[in-house]
Amino acid sequence: MRRERLTYRDLLRRLLSGRLLRTEERRQTELILGIPEDLEVAVRLGDLLEQIASRGTLLRLGRRSGDRRNVRRYLDPLTSDHWTVELPDPGVAEPPVPGPSPDAVRPPPGPSPKPEAVREPAPAPETAPETAPAPTPVPEPAAEPESAAEPTPIPGPAPVSEPRPPVPAHPIRPVEEVVIEPGIARRFHDETSGEPLHSLFSTFSPCLTPEELGESLVPVRNQIRERTSASDVRFYTLDAEGESLLLLPQRDQAKRDPLTLGEQVRQAVLIEGRNLHVPNLAVPDTGAPPGETGALVSLPLVDRDRVVGLMEVHRDRPGPFDAEELRFFALSAAVAASVVVQAEVLEKLIFLDKLTGLYNRAYFDDQIEREIERANRMGTSVALLMADLDHFKRINDTYGHQAGDQALAHLAVIIRQNIRQIDVAARYGGEEFAILLPSITRARAVRTAERLRRVVADTKFEGAVPGLNDVRLSISLGVALYPDDAATAKQLIDRADRVALYAAKNRGRNRVVSWASAREMKMPLKPPPASQPNAAGSTD
Ligand code: GH3
Ligand code: MG
Ligand code: MG
Repeated sequence: MRRERLTYRDLLRRLLSGRLLRTEERRQTELILGIPEDLEVAVRLGDLLEQIASRGTLLRLGRRSGDRRNVRRYLDPLTSDHWTVELPDPGVAEPPVPGPSPDAVRPPPGPSPKPEAVREPAPAPETAPETAPAPTPVPEPAAEPESAAEPTPIPGPAPVSEPRPPVPAHPIRPVEEVVIEPGIARRFHDETSGEPLHSLFSTFSPCLTPEELGESLVPVRNQIRERTSASDVRFYTLDAEGESLLLLPQRDQAKRDPLTLGEQVRQAVLIEGRNLHVPNLAVPDTGAPPGETGALVSLPLVDRDRVVGLMEVHRDRPGPFDAEELRFFALSAAVAASVVVQAEVLEKLIFLDKLTGLYNRAYFDDQIEREIERANRMGTSVALLMADLDHFKRINDTYGHQAGDQALAHLAVIIRQNIRQIDVAARYGGEEFAILLPSITRARAVRTAERLRRVVADTKFEGAVPGLNDVRLSISLGVALYPDDAATAKQLIDRADRVALYAAKNRGRNRVVSWASAREMKMPLKPPPASQPNAAGSTD
């Protein structure tokens, strides 16, 4: 490792020629350079470094064992350069550092050591920068002994380093792909509290709804907000087709559109499973919509080779996240992915109908309550379609139960293909299906029902069910709307099923009837199953 010894003034000049300073700080630095007193320069430099560190542009490292109290260590996260700065008087500029601190004790005044700072360029293999290749053009001389890494007792007057070319600013690209090794970086491990690391993420419970899933990821979001410079985190799940992202709602979440980077995220993150780092959303070419500010990291939530979601880490102020933070994000994304996968597995085990792959009755019963609550909250309507295969018994009787099963499975495919992403289709029982259509008008709900009816009637099931030659199946549908037609979930089901669907069967099957029109027709109510009479009339 090559080391270079600088005076305070040299270090200030280095800072001026680099990228770490803001405009105001440059002015400040020039003023400091004009101060004749070395001691005063050192104190001001100490303050300046702390200021840069406070916004995360430089990282303040802990003291190494054996370091004197007036030694401070910093890491430039982009170049991985280490700076070791020895200040003249520990009592003057040493800010409180975590750990046992004899700060109250001031050393007796004595001759100050000659102010100076030592810069250690990035040790090549050990801390190779992960955010970007470090371009610092420091010639590597023949290897120095290991002891170079040890604390730096700085003797006597400082030899000033040879004049060197100024370190060029790190070329921050607007959007860069970063490869991050997950893992808890040492910086996030609070050794003093004795908190076991795994406890950070051990608070998860099984969850199924987006709300529950969002809530169960709150600890991950909190950890990130507490331990890194991130302002906020949001999680999305990706549907099975890999097409639409669903924001997992979390408490006190600022509203922001997903996919801040549009197509870049879709291609690089969701399709190719790579991480994107955008140090400044305000610069052109990031793909972010105009007006976006701050910094962003988009990470895929990956289960083996499948992307199951997206994690977006946002910071209000621009500037690169450092390598340690990125590593922590990657670990958090791995934890979040496992929570999403766990929810998926649970959902399949508990709430999916095995034959059709649609939701089962238990899920539907919960979901209808949730949708009604949501409709109340949002002031929207939710429609319920109840669909029942016509004369299905005949199919079983004629072609066998297995062919009947296959026909049911194929009907489920047709239903799924003809409803929206947000609609919920469930097998309500036997050959009857319930479909919830949130945020919809009556006219649109009836159109959806009519489309389903027509597609089923037009489908040649023999393609999916060998042996069902020339057999045409049909469905009858009942439609009811909350809150217009019903005041509760139970009433909504009753009116779609026992009134409207039953009316559709009575009026000849293969048709759609809505509760409002069934009521006008004064159609009889469907009797309880045991005493159900043979339905009259048939279209086939
Ligand atoms: P309708 O038009 O009045 O609805 O006549 P239907 O024959 O469809 O109605 P019914 O209630 O008389 O019969 C329902 C049939 O659906 C009887 C049952 O064998 C069949 N069925 C219910 N669940 C399944 C299933 O999981 N697999 C198969 N193959 N058949 C089923
Ligand atoms: Mg039937
Ligand atoms: Mg039935």
